[in-house]
Amino acid sequence: MKILVTGGAGYIGSHTCLALLDAGYEVAVVDNLSNSKEESLKRVQGLTGKTLEFHKVDLLDKRSLNAVFEKSSIDAVIHFAGLKAVGESVSIPLRYYHNNVTGTLNLCDVMGDHDVRTMVFSSSATVYGDPQTVPIKEDSPLSPANPYGRSKLMIEEILQDLHRSEAGWNIALLRYFNPVGAHSSGLIGEDPNGVPNNLLPFITQVAVGKLSELSIFGNDYPTPDGTGIRDYIHVVDLALGHIKALRILASNPGIVVYNLGAGRGYSVLEMVSGFEKTTGQKIHSKIVARRPGDIASCYADVSRAQRELGWSSERGIDEICADAWRWQSKNPDGYE
Ligand code: NAD
Ligand code: UDP
Repeated sequence: MKILVTGGAGYIGSHTCLALLDAGYEVAVVDNLSNSKEESLKRVQGLTGKTLEFHKVDLLDKRSLNAVFEKSSIDAVIHFAGLKAVGESVSIPLRYYHNNVTGTLNLCDVMGDHDVRTMVFSSSATVYGDPQTVPIKEDSPLSPANPYGRSKLMIEEILQDLHRSEAGWNIALLRYFNPVGAHSSGLIGEDPNGVPNNLLPFITQVAVGKLSELSIFGNDYPTPDGTGIRDYIHVVDLALGHIKALRILASNPGIVVYNLGAGRGYSVLEMVSGFEKTTGQKIHSKIVARRPGDIASCYADVSRAQRELGWSSERGIDEICADAWRWQSKNPDGYE
């Protein structure tokens, strides 16, 4: 069975390509390399001892995308390709809507033309916005607070409409919480452009000496220690969730929505002390003002994924910190 992975050279995509190859799937990747390097895929092939097809194609280039489907006999698609920086989406919203929404429309058109109607889509916990209650269930209100989150919700709704309009579409909408960590080899991991926006890559770059100190965005939230709480999910566990989703679509056709998270929250201070304890690295930090748009607490109710997919996260916070640090210390400049 051959899986087309859009955005497969990226952070979650590369870990998922590795998991797919390990599980015996054939893999074809479409990526425009706008936020990744082909080196990640070379390393995935080195780690698995298996080959994959790589097509440097932009989803906005429908003709080239069509050519990939003409050449390769694709059975299902895992769709990661998209822009993901929340702050950037506020300053250049049209680019986000065009890339994420139009890219997905092109993909659906080309898939339909080639009778490929199984898709696993990367949605995000950002579709919930500021939750009224935690843990967040899949049927909680959806209220994204920025263009990035709205692009994800629009795509979810487009895919729901597509499924309603035409029987035969099998779609899994996977809402990721906070993907972190790296493959245990330390050979693939997250390689953000410039100064990282996210907490864990920031911590590892302080530890490796690329950044001087961590700014903790607020200690006056209504949480036990005052810092923000998030649900950090190991990227390898997340990757395995995609394989479970492919399996459920094969056995139970239809459209499904799952939260993929660890199901418990950690504060910023807990993450910093967890990292220091596991790695022995001191993280210099200071408390600064809250980051605009941040919420106090966000973590998943993962009981639906546990029950229906038979999936839950296995790698805890120690493994997350150890793996993130192994990747960062072995590759201080990412894939450069
Ligand atoms: P990433 O940026 O590392 O990977 C995305 C990949 O898509 C990149 O390799 C990029 O080059 C490619 N891409 C972007 N636009 C494209 C286009 N038009 N055509 C072809 N390729 C294109 O990001 P990631 O962290 O691996 O995230 C993967 C997906 O998961 C994204 O859709 C993201 O929105 C979603 N997601 C990520 C997180 C997170 O915190 N990392 C959380 C929730 C959801
Ligand atoms: N955070 C922080 N300093 C940073 C980056 C993040 O204090 O340099 C905090 C942030 O306010 C939030 C948590 O760490 O409470 C996770 O932030 P991240 O950007 O990784 O995820 P998101 O907020 O998008 O869920």
